[in-house]
Amino acid sequence: MKTEKIIEVIKTIAVRISEEKDYLTALDNAIGDGDHGINLNRGFEAVIAKADSLYGKAPGEVLKNVGMTLVSTVGGASGPLYGTLFMYMGKEFGTAEEIDTDLFIKAFKCGIEGVRMRGKSDEGEKTMLDAMIPALNAMESSESKVPSKVLAEGYRAASEGLEHTKEIIATKGRASYVGERSLGHLDPGAASFCMMLDEVKRL
Ligand code: ADP
Ligand code: MG
Repeated sequence: MKTEKIIEVIKTIAVRISEEKDYLTALDNAIGDGDHGINLNRGFEAVIAKADSLYGKAPGEVLKNVGMTLVSTVGGASGPLYGTLFMYMGKEFGTAEEIDTDLFIKAFKCGIEGVRMRGKSDEGEKTMLDAMIPALNAMESSESKVPSKVLAEGYRAASEGLEHTKEIIATKGRASYVGERSLGHLDPGAASFCMMLDEVKRL
């Protein structure tokens, strides 16, 4: 995957987030403050505004740029967390002009480490990590060499992880304030991550 393709995927993610804004916000309404869709959409609108200026850059620079834009525009907990995911992935891409599956997985792992550190959180706390970590595990253990298959396996695991967030009591973020009342509800951040990975897997 080269810069042109990466920017294309980022644009499709932005469209998807804008389409699902109300759904994500409704999820956040149930256990948080009802702004997740609005927050992310604001961030991805800013990303889109900058996207065309990124074509000459290496993939790593593109992702770092996207991450910084998300940090400075999203607001809410998810901004710094998604920002960290993209920035750490970009850093791991280094100066590579083309991203293969192995480098993508390696970078995704670093991105997740960043989210863990920044969020002081881990799997099992009803956050975006409950979709990200199963996706990483599935991609790392995939026996396929076909990028779209590896990504599809990651997406399937992320979706299962998202479903599983219904059975978890939140211990991090705003949803932790409602305690046991968070049971039975999907985590909004895990849902938005699944949407992003869904767009990545279509490439
Ligand atoms: P806020 O909670 O500030 O209103 P958002 O509504 O945009 O921010 O994002 C909420 C999402 O952020 C949650 O659904 C969860 O997935 C994620 N999140 C919140 N806190 C953490 C954390 N400490 N670690 C990982 N993810 C978190
Ligand atoms: Mg919120």
